[in-house]
Amino acid sequence: MTGESYDLLISIIRTMIEWEQEYRRMPEDSKIVVNRLNSYLIHHTNIAPPKNIREFIDRIQTLPVYELGFEVDDNFKNYKIIDENGRVDSDIRHWYDNSIRNDDVDQNLVKEFLLECRGEFKKSGNRMIAEMYSEVRAFVNASNYCLTGDRIMNLVGKYSNVSDAIVKIRDWYEAVNLKSQDNYVCPVCGKLLDNDILKEFRCTDMCMYYRDKESLLPKSLAVNEEFKYRKLKRGIYTYTLLPGISEHRIYHQLCELYGDEKILLYPEIDKFDISVIFDSGTIYIDVKDFASPHDLVETLINNQAFIKMEGVGEDDYVYLVIPEHRRHLYKGGNYKNVVRKKLRQLTNKVRVIYEDELYKEVGDIINEL
Ligand SMILES: [Zn+2]
Repeated sequence: MTGESYDLLISIIRTMIEWEQEYRRMPEDSKIVVNRLNSYLIHHTNIAPPKNIREFIDRIQTLPVYELGFEVDDNFKNYKIIDENGRVDSDIRHWYDNSIRNDDVDQNLVKEFLLECRGEFKKSGNRMIAEMYSEVRAFVNASNYCLTGDRIMNLVGKYSNVSDAIVKIRDWYEAVNLKSQDNYVCPVCGKLLDNDILKEFRCTDMCMYYRDKESLLPKSLAVNEEFKYRKLKRGIYTYTLLPGISEHRIYHQLCELYGDEKILLYPEIDKFDISVIFDSGTIYIDVKDFASPHDLVETLINNQAFIKMEGVGEDDYVYLVIPEHRRHLYKGGNYKNVVRKKLRQLTNKVRVIYEDELYKEVGDIINEL
């Protein structure tokens, strides 16, 4: 299942569980979830989207998850989210609990690596650790979603004298059995794609946006049977690789325009996504790739991101950048304005802009000084 559809299925089940606990009050984000399911059904199935909450409940009570366009393991695909008693189905609940637990474990692997790098750097002050961190995070990209085990070991070997944390990246991957031929990967995110009537090599909404825009076709993956292949674990794919695609694209574009000497990816062990050093200060850039602007702001608040953003120097700039595809994929209004309006009450240090507006802004700041 792709990152976005997985995330949506999890959101639907979570909303229903919350609602079950407090029947008199609809969970706060239920409207957003219903809207997301609507657009999902339009793009991925022939099922008519529900017009109201009653129809929404009807869809998830009468149609198995597979027919709603979600691919779950074969054991679960014929289960319906809501059972005949109007409660969340117990097997679906089991699948949900298990998935959440596994994603947390995956996500924590990346977080642990980050914290260990920070700890090692604090202790030794070795700049190589920050360099390693940037390289490792940049390594989690579309070309490395599925790879041979020796590629991982090369990276481990490169830094094994610098850091103990580096061996941990071996756990970010798991074994994968590839077919001897006809393996296809997404040209945008690198994920292995399935081709059957429902899936038709489809991938996330983001991937499909760039595939349509740039006329990209699924890439075939040549397999050398002498090697063992590994693929990125799902939680790391969903929460690190996918958002990283926009970060890497913006980084490379900035390097092309202004040279790569002053531009860093994941500077100071992930303080921000990108930094651009100019004569009298630094431009800090965070790229936020969320389907919904409401989720974006919510996450910033929960992660206490404003403390870091407010804490930069007086001559520094902080940009929160919305990737290009979000502007086009979001159907709930003007994405940027929603974020700006919500941030106004929280901070005045952060400038919210779309990706294609960033390049000129950075140029103006660099050249003015
Ligand atoms: Zn993809």
